[in-house]
Parts: sequence; structure tokens; C-alpha cells
Amino acid sequence: MIDVQEVSKKYRDFTALHTVDLKIKAGEFIAVLGPSGCGKTTLLKLLAGFMGPTEGSIAMDGMQVATAKKVVPPEKRNIGMVFQSFALWPHMSVADHVKFPLEYHPNRKKRSRSELESRVQEVLGLVGLEAFAKRYPSELSGGQKQRVALARAIAPLPNLLLMDEPFSALDVELRMEMRKEIQKLHKETGASIVFVTHDQSEALAIADRIVVMNAGRIEQIAPPEVIYTRPETPFVASFVGKCNLVEGQWKTEGFVPDGDAKSVWPDLGVARSFKANGIFPVRPEQLQLALAGNAGLQGQVSFVQYQGNEIHYTVEVNEAMWTVHEPVYAPRFHVGEAVAVSLKTAVLQERELAAVMK
Ligand code: ATP
Repeated sequence: MIDVQEVSKKYRDFTALHTVDLKIKAGEFIAVLGPSGCGKTTLLKLLAGFMGPTEGSIAMDGMQVATAKKVVPPEKRNIGMVFQSFALWPHMSVADHVKFPLEYHPNRKKRSRSELESRVQEVLGLVGLEAFAKRYPSELSGGQKQRVALARAIAPLPNLLLMDEPFSALDVELRMEMRKEIQKLHKETGASIVFVTHDQSEALAIADRIVVMNAGRIEQIAPPEVIYTRPETPFVASFVGKCNLVEGQWKTEGFVPDGDAKSVWPDLGVARSFKANGIFPVRPEQLQLALAGNAGLQGQVSFVQYQGNEIHYTVEVNEAMWTVHEPVYAPRFHVGEAVAVSLKTAVLQERELAAVMK
């Protein structure tokens, strides 16, 4: 439905996007994830039509909407937008915010006054604001304001909903609630969503696919579980969740970590870029601790943090700091204690699973 082809964007001599390729299917929920300044908002602005690419092209529903020479403006695209700042109109009531796009959006339908009123009520119902129709933005909480912005965006049934960090001004609990709301709305409206965030847990929780960006480039596009369990680059591994980038050597039978010639870690679908760099990405929960002298890499505990459901250890191994997460019921270790670090049995068993799947 959306086809971004070899798009680059320069702001004078600074290149904010480098030859980006991205295809978004109809009805798909895409999260664009990356650190500050990596080009997320630039990509969203190009999808909206606020500006054109320096090179490349963008097509929507089979029609070219942007090239370096010609850009179809936002008001001629069937899109809805939600921003971090809500961007509500102070002099308009909640109901008027929803009514306005129903009367002026390019996708508007001819409706009688009563049909218009009932569509406004219907949309307010979708976001749980039926009782607030007559209020003004200054009379609403942050969460309610963001619901108004959502209602305004979805009212004219856009094909594409663009959201730029829409929940980052909300507190943690409200953010969790709004994530569920947006997942529900996504199902009910069937619109494609492009959701920009720098919060990896948000991206993992809500998206069908995550686009991980770094310094103006796309590093990986994949469903959340694939991004987490099969990151393709060191950047993706360490940006999405905690990850130990263990150094060693790739051999035909697997990975042999430096400092432990006896261990062979199975290739858990680890991508080429890791192999090329002699790195094995391992999550803190995939490692386990035992008393020093047991099988594994020998190290020393530097920090211990109690987290309620887990104990987080920082362990010095081969002059690097590794993170190991153990359940609270596992044997405990204390700062300064010598330990052996190895892959959990369950992780080793994944080798058999991978073999079966082949
Ligand atoms: P954040 O998470 O902080 O919002 P972002 O990933 O959305 O960041 P962009 O806003 O897309 O990043 O900016 C990408 C890069 O382009 C940044 O280095 C930024 O400074 C630069 N940039 C953005 N807009 C302009 C502009 N109008 N002129 C010059 N440089 C710009």
C-alpha cells in the first residue's frame, strides 16, 4: 500500500535519511524505533507530505505521491495525524474537534446534520469520551487530550494514521493504557499505522513490524519477536533490550567465546554481521551463574540489583561487563564473588529446535 523507494533526504548539506526502502502493507501497524536524531520524524514528514525527498520516490495505493520534483500535499492524502503535543484547538469543544475533519477532510462524505452528530458520538465512543463532548481542551487531563487528538485523526476513516511519539507526554500508567487503546482502535479502523517512538518496549508491545533506524539508515525491519531474538546488527541487539555482545570466534560447530575454549555456543540464527565481527549477542536472561570452577567463562560479580521478580548481576568477564538476569529463586551471589557464566540449558536446547526447523 505504501512503497518508499530509495528515499534520501538532505537538509542543506546534512543527510538525515540515506537511501531508505520500506514497504507497508494495508492495515499494518509499523513502529519506527531509533535514538534521538536518527531521522524518524523526517521519515514521518515525508509520508505525510509536509516535504519531499531529495532523491527517490514514495507511492501510496499504487499512485506516486512524492519525488524530488513533485509532492502531493497532506490535505490531498487520505491520512490522519497525531502528535506528541496533542495540537488541540483551544477554542473548540471536544465534539467540534471530531466534527471538523468530518466536514473538511479530503475523505469526507456528504452527511446530514443528524448523521454528522451520530458519527461524532460514534467516534467519541471509540475513544471513551462520550461524556466529554462539550468540554474544551483546558478542561481535560493529558490522557483525555490525547484521546481527542486520536478521535480527530480517525474520524474521517483515513487509510494511514501517522503518529509521532503520541504518548510520550503521558505518565507511565496512562501510556500503558493508551497502548491498549491504540491496538484496539487499529483493529476497529483497519487503517495502516506508522508510529514513531524511541521507547523500545512500546515498539515491542504494539507493532506488527518494527523499523529500527540508526543515523539516517534502516538497520532492520522485522516483527518484534524477530527483532528481539534474531537481531541482525550489534546496534539492533543493544538498542532493543539489553544485550551482551560477547567476543569470540565463529567455527563450523558454533561460537567459541574468548576465554573458554571448552564452550561451543550454538548458532541461534545469528546474522552475518555478527559473524563477520566475531560477536555473539546474548540476552541477560539467556545466561546463568554458577560457583567459580564450574563450566563456563570465569568472572567476578561487580554489582547486584534486586528487582522484585529478578536479580540483575553485573559480572566482569574478560575485562568486559556482562549483564546476567537470574530469577529470585536461583542461587544468589554477592559482590566480589568469583563465578562461572554459561548459556542456560534452555538456550542450548534451541539448537535442537533450530535443527528440526531446518
Ligand atoms: P527525535 O527522536 O529527537 O525527535 P528524530 O529521529 O525524529 O529525532 P529527525 O527530527 O528526523 O530525528 O532529525 C534527523 C536529523 O536531521 C537530526 O540530526 C536533525 O538535527 C536534523 N534536522 C531535522 N530537521 C532539520 C532541518 N529543518 N534543518 C536541518 N537539519 C534538520
